[in-house]
Amino acid sequence: MKWINHRIVSGMAVYVLTHDITASIATTATSVFPDWIEGKEYDRNVHRKTSHWMPLYAVPALLLFAYLYFSHCFINITAYLFTSVPVTTQTDLNKIYQHVLNILFSGSDLSNPHLTDVNFILNLFFYAFLGPIFHILEDAVCGKVPLVSLKKRHGVRLFTVGSFKEYFFVISFIAICIIIVHKGL
Ligand SMILES: [Zn+2]
Repeated sequence: MKWINHRIVSGMAVYVLTHDITASIATTATSVFPDWIEGKEYDRNVHRKTSHWMPLYAVPALLLFAYLYFSHCFINITAYLFTSVPVTTQTDLNKIYQHVLNILFSGSDLSNPHLTDVNFILNLFFYAFLGPIFHILEDAVCGKVPLVSLKKRHGVRLFTVGSFKEYFFVISFIAICIIIVHKGL
């Protein structure tokens, strides 16, 4: 899949699941990581091997998920950053910056004693790990990737990279996401 399409599909999927634009941006940013780490030169001995090995990203993501879930520290990052502060004037904007700085540097936010800056950053990390996970799943519909064992690769080829079918797939995916968000499903 083309990088732009990896970004669009991964970012939209996270937005539909979380309604959290900050989480979505974190995933979008890392969604090309498995290709990026391979370097610019295409090398078929390297492509879609270790860099696309699912457990490398799925294990840390699962651990983070379990920790955040069971310690009740999963947050909607955007809502948290902008808690009850309407964005209207410069004073309000200053309040938001102050709020963000408090979370990042003073250790915790008083409105949620569980939520330390570490937990806040762990939320961001969780969504950053989702980027490569979505990337590998997306590659698995246009080729083969190592989902479990590094020796065995799985996937189906619904379309070839950069083909008309790929763009059709992405546009259909965007349409479905918009409908889901619009209908509030
Ligand atoms: Zn890839």
